[in-house]
Amino acid sequence: VPPSDGAQRAEALATWDRARAVVPRGVSSGHRVGWQQVFVRSSGAYVWDDKDRRYVDFLNAWGPIVLGHCDDRINRAAFEAASTCDLTGVGPQPGEAQLAETICEVMPSAEKVVFCTSGTDATMHAVHLARAATGRLKVLKFHGTYHGWNDHVAVGSSRKDLTPGTPLNTPNGGGLHPAVVDDVVVVEWNDEAGLRAAFDQFGDQLAAAFAEGYVHSFGCVPAAPGFLELLRELCTRNGVVMVMDEVKTGFRAAIGGYQSIHGVVPDLTAFGKAVANGYSLAGLAGIDDLMGHLGAYSKSEATVDGTYNASPYALGAANKTLEIMRTEDVFGTLYARGDQLRKGIQKSIDSLGVPATVTGLGSEWCVYFRSEPPVNFRQAMESDADMYAKYHSALLAQGVLEPAFPTGDRRLNAATTEADIDFALECVHNALTAAIS
Ligand code: PMP
Repeated sequence: VPPSDGAQRAEALATWDRARAVVPRGVSSGHRVGWQQVFVRSSGAYVWDDKDRRYVDFLNAWGPIVLGHCDDRINRAAFEAASTCDLTGVGPQPGEAQLAETICEVMPSAEKVVFCTSGTDATMHAVHLARAATGRLKVLKFHGTYHGWNDHVAVGSSRKDLTPGTPLNTPNGGGLHPAVVDDVVVVEWNDEAGLRAAFDQFGDQLAAAFAEGYVHSFGCVPAAPGFLELLRELCTRNGVVMVMDEVKTGFRAAIGGYQSIHGVVPDLTAFGKAVANGYSLAGLAGIDDLMGHLGAYSKSEATVDGTYNASPYALGAANKTLEIMRTEDVFGTLYARGDQLRKGIQKSIDSLGVPATVTGLGSEWCVYFRSEPPVNFRQAMESDADMYAKYHSALLAQGVLEPAFPTGDRRLNAATTEADIDFALECVHNALTAAIS
């Protein structure tokens, strides 16, 4: 990652050194490692580093920033909520029913909604709920998909899984309970035969099957035609709870999530990120039947508890975010800018003859340095890392911020203008040229 000048590099390194002395790795979340830039300001489509250098942001905090950075309307709503009645820890919180009502109106699988603070919370509660409702233990998920750091699902999405001979259900990190990990069944994404075989073998032991409707964990990889329908059918036939992880796609692919576009309706939906444009709010939505298993302190019922669940300021931000999505053409803008960008990237790929391909939906995309769009984790990971490193460095040097690893999905926010995309496309053309030089 090239710093813009020597002085900036020295200062950024000093910031990292200071952080590393007191914070393991210097950061509190994995993908923040490895950057030399230190960002100190953000607004609309942009972030600025500590030398006041502006970048068009195509990372957007890995998903939450959907309307734009530091959106005044959202910050005011959050501040107003927090200054009227902040956390009381008693009864329904101000704005809670309103947000749940809206989600029930827009999201096909939502008949009831419960709130928590992160995607990791939401997927953990989904597993507990599915186990309580079915009395079974195992969980099925797809190779390479990330669903947070619960022992129940933090399996089968590390690059180590690709080393020959490594079982697909390898834990993503240390400290996970081996007995829990043993109960995770991992299937290759888009592998119909593998999916059928897993249900043949474990169908009556599975509590839940997790899928991102449109995979963002290793870039942008849609389900093959019929694949989600097959998953739905196998779940229904075997009494397995189908969980759609819409932490990335919820309130971004569409206000009602990817399920509202695709048409396959899961039993439970985990969401987070874009729902509150950067404030920490997440949740679990589901059919009444299942959500009825959320009770208190009994073995057949799962429990959702949390001091900060449905905090009024996050609810204020979320209610405002969804109000804006319902009254303004946010998705028209996100899709128009995304289409403009993908078309432009493809044009440069073609004109330069780069062995690359661009995939994506709406505001999200991924550039893979392989000629064909990948259909699963293994193929996505074949994207040429050296070419990507050159591409990424060239983008950063020109003022475009994207993920630092080849399978990172990238996204724009609704404050991004056509002129920003024109600028980004020039930078992409130069970066693709650098990648093949
Ligand atoms: N599911 C998916 C699909 C995600 O992308 C993420 C986060 N990147 C999570 C779950 C976990 O969410 P959080 O980081 O809010 O815990």
